Amino acid sequence: MNEAVKQEILETIERYDKIIVSRHIRPDGDAVGSTKGFVKVLRDTYPAKKILLVDDDFSDYLAFCGGEDTAEEEDYRGALLIVIDTGTRKRISNRNYQKAEKIIKIDHHIEADPYGDINWVEDFRSSACEMIADFFMTFRDRLKLSAEAAGYVYMGMVTDSGRFRFEGVTGETMRLAGALLDLHPDTETLFANLYTEEPSAFTLKTHVYQHLRITEHGVAYVYMDRAAQEALGLTLEAASSVVGELSDIRGSLIWVAFIENTAEDNIRVRLRSRFLGINDLAKRYHGGGHEMAAGATVYSEEEMYALIEDADRLLGAYKSTHEGWL
Ligand code: AMP
Repeated sequence: MNEAVKQEILETIERYDKIIVSRHIRPDGDAVGSTKGFVKVLRDTYPAKKILLVDDDFSDYLAFCGGEDTAEEEDYRGALLIVIDTGTRKRISNRNYQKAEKIIKIDHHIEADPYGDINWVEDFRSSACEMIADFFMTFRDRLKLSAEAAGYVYMGMVTDSGRFRFEGVTGETMRLAGALLDLHPDTETLFANLYTEEPSAFTLKTHVYQHLRITEHGVAYVYMDRAAQEALGLTLEAASSVVGELSDIRGSLIWVAFIENTAEDNIRVRLRSRFLGINDLAKRYHGGGHEMAAGATVYSEEEMYALIEDADRLLGAYKSTHEGWL
């Protein structure tokens, strides 16, 4: 698939002496893993090139992956910028991205903004890391792959696919994950970093279980307002993580977390679903995303309740016309 564009990407990388790699804002495991893994392989393969990993913001929960670089004006001059896992230019976590000479976009979101000079976009992939693993394996004879790089990329595959549970995981996903495991990444340390939690996390879970609401047709939602965030001592990012706590309620095929963002005077919305899509709903509320994992923004509590009502109607319509959902 897309052999020509992968070939073009490798040839472009080989032509440039200065390469900067960036990802999307509010990074997740896929964004961090894909860029970290890609940079590691490029550095090992091309030690004479200057290769920088540059981003404007970070996620505390991925701090175990290590730091990043800073780039000077000079580093952008005549440089190649590779942006991974980032659907639109406004989500690029590098305010200087336009200073690079050429941009390569590597992404698995539905194409909405082909901002690259070269765009390799495969929206059927379960993660951007799956694409990076594919790139590594396609050129395994020309690239220096390592256990460390494989670990980063494996991390993104695991996290973005919900540990290989989400729709979009295919036989090819598993073959590529298997090829990464053949490089012997330290998965025990990886999983300890990803999935053990501080005792305080359990206080948050308790709060969510006490405050979640379920609508008539089964939409589960929780609103983390400013008071709750302050009472629990949460960063916006930590408060946003609560969407994951709502995923396993039988009959709640749509679940939504609302997180008050006082700095921006709006409410961040994280929408998830199974069996039915919610990205059209997200689009109606200043958002978008994947079919079953999307984000939006609302600007008042009234708008929040309007979204909940829309979601409830959507789920009601789905349940009355389908069978076999749980
Ligand atoms: P999140 O809940 O932030 O993890 O978002 C889930 C997915 O929805 C992400 O992978 C993004 O592609 C997308 N997304 C989130 N927020 C927005 C937004 N405001 N506009 C468009 N897409 C978004």
